[in-house]
Amino acid sequence: MIEERSVTGAVPLETETLTPDVTGFARAADILGQGGLVAFPTETVYGLGADARNDMAVARIFEAKGRPRFNPLIVHVPDVEAAKRYVAWDDTADRIASAFWPGPLTLVLPLRPGAGLSPLVTADLPTLAIRIPAHPVARALLNAFDGPVAAPSANPSGRISPTEAAHVLAGLSNRIEAVVDGGTCDVGVESTILGLADTPRLLRPGGLPQEALEAALGTPLALYQVGDALTAPGQMTSHYAPGAPVRLNAIKVETTERLLGFGKVDGAALNLSPSGDLTEAAANLFHHLHKLDQEGDSPIAVSPVPERGLGRAINDRLRRAAAPRGT
Ligand code: AMP
Ligand code: MG
Repeated sequence: MIEERSVTGAVPLETETLTPDVTGFARAADILGQGGLVAFPTETVYGLGADARNDMAVARIFEAKGRPRFNPLIVHVPDVEAAKRYVAWDDTADRIASAFWPGPLTLVLPLRPGAGLSPLVTADLPTLAIRIPAHPVARALLNAFDGPVAAPSANPSGRISPTEAAHVLAGLSNRIEAVVDGGTCDVGVESTILGLADTPRLLRPGGLPQEALEAALGTPLALYQVGDALTAPGQMTSHYAPGAPVRLNAIKVETTERLLGFGKVDGAALNLSPSGDLTEAAANLFHHLHKLDQEGDSPIAVSPVPERGLGRAINDRLRRAAAPRGT
């Protein structure tokens, strides 16, 4: 059982070390199914996994890592059949996947609408980064869980990526439910990321060489340029803006405004977390912004959200939503 305490992170967890066998995989799958966090080895580095369909579980990844921003996460699946459930597939994706999956390659493809993933996974982008890892422990875990697993590297934000279970514990002990100890990762660098949502583009160099991709594609790859729209949600100031104007740190609400509340406030149209829980607020953020956007275009006032823990990532996103609109 995952107890209540693990969800708020208020009381330290005792992180379980699981063995890479049937018992360990079953336990890991059980924890993931209950919204818990499980670190596991891939051939690149140890990933910090959560059920990619569960908003609270994905919010907890950002909380455990102390990430100041909701940058998009890579979703791990066991096979191409599973990948096709979440992304629009085409001939190029098929060719590249047959050549390099399973392996240290992530593909960015159009997200299938209604695929059921948490919007926190994609940072609300219309594309999804997806990968089939080759590591036998990662594969066994994905098969045991039988669902999409969002997993960034299993280290606190700003620290070096872990290639051993001991590194994971050194950084995240008492912040995650479990780590599957599968020894040392071979590749030791992150996956190569190939954007296939439009012109093929190398979005991040990594474990699979660019030359191998170019040989398979039969053409040189365009490289990611700073300022390109696709990868850089964080660089586009008002990317997340709803149609209506957004006003932050609202204490008093005008009669023309709709309040997106946080904590105990009266008259909120929607509340990110009535109890003032930042993890719950993160889990609700994109859902509530979309709902308010769909329901009308009168101005949105947002209650103050404390600038600590996940509050920093929430405020980062809200500031973008409130930024003056470009064209
Ligand atoms: P990490 O999981 O921490 O190794 O990093 C994930 C990387 O994937 C980040 O550099 C993201 O910017 C990138 N990424 C994830 N999703 C997308 C996406 N939809 N489009 C472009 N890049 C993505
Ligand atoms: Mg990382």
